[in-house]
Amino acid sequence: MKIGTCSFPESIDPIASYEAAISERSDNAEPNTSKRAKRSVAVHTKFWKPGRILKIAMYDEDQKTIDKVKSIASKWIEYANLKFEFVSGAEGDIRIKIEQTQYGDSYSYLGTDALTRPPEKETMQIGLPLEDDEFEFSVLHEFGHALGLAHEHQHPDADIPWDREKVYAWYKEEFNLERDQVDRDVLPLPRNTNYTYGDYDSLSIMHYDIDSRLTINNWSHPGGSTLSRKDLEVVSKIYPHGTPYIPHSLIELLNKIKAPFTGSSN
Ligand SMILES: [Zn+2]
Repeated sequence: MKIGTCSFPESIDPIASYEAAISERSDNAEPNTSKRAKRSVAVHTKFWKPGRILKIAMYDEDQKTIDKVKSIASKWIEYANLKFEFVSGAEGDIRIKIEQTQYGDSYSYLGTDALTRPPEKETMQIGLPLEDDEFEFSVLHEFGHALGLAHEHQHPDADIPWDREKVYAWYKEEFNLERDQVDRDVLPLPRNTNYTYGDYDSLSIMHYDIDSRLTINNWSHPGGSTLSRKDLEVVSKIYPHGTPYIPHSLIELLNKIKAPFTGSSN
């Protein structure tokens, strides 16, 4: 793919984001239960409830476009316990606008953040036409965000030898992004001790191409162009099949009840 052109939307109300995530799925509150993470508005996952049917609206797109997006997006849920229902018109949990943008950039709200978006606004934009070579990549990548996944190249273990000043200059020149947007969408994010991270997956569809013009010593790395084995593994773990969805609060309660019989006190 080309150098990364996906930007997260700004100005999400953190309280609304938290409330939407928790009322969708209570264990979004505590992504790292093993470390007894403190509950915090700023730290929560944004996954949908397993087994859910996500309604996907594509406004007045023609059938050819709808079919194309449907066949691409469905790759994500081959092993995951989610269903996509493509609906006509503008009423969906996820609303996709396909429109060539000035910089060919795309975006999607992260998981349940889509629920905080006014119903008349799209939650995802694909900034490329159907015929573009990057269209499939773009749809897969943005659907990854829509399922709650972040950028893999920003994983704290990614260790990419970025030349930060070149990165800032490139993104300003090519996409008119300010430094803080580059920090948010491109450069590595500090490890957040409240999160559980999966192993770094350089083949992930959520990983940008790393172009040698933006690194030290011409280091480069081709990003994913299709879903990696791990991408599929990750979503099948987040949205598991076979087991009924049990709210985290209920699991905690069951563990408490069980504790006196299973724990060793001395
Ligand atoms: Zn992205």
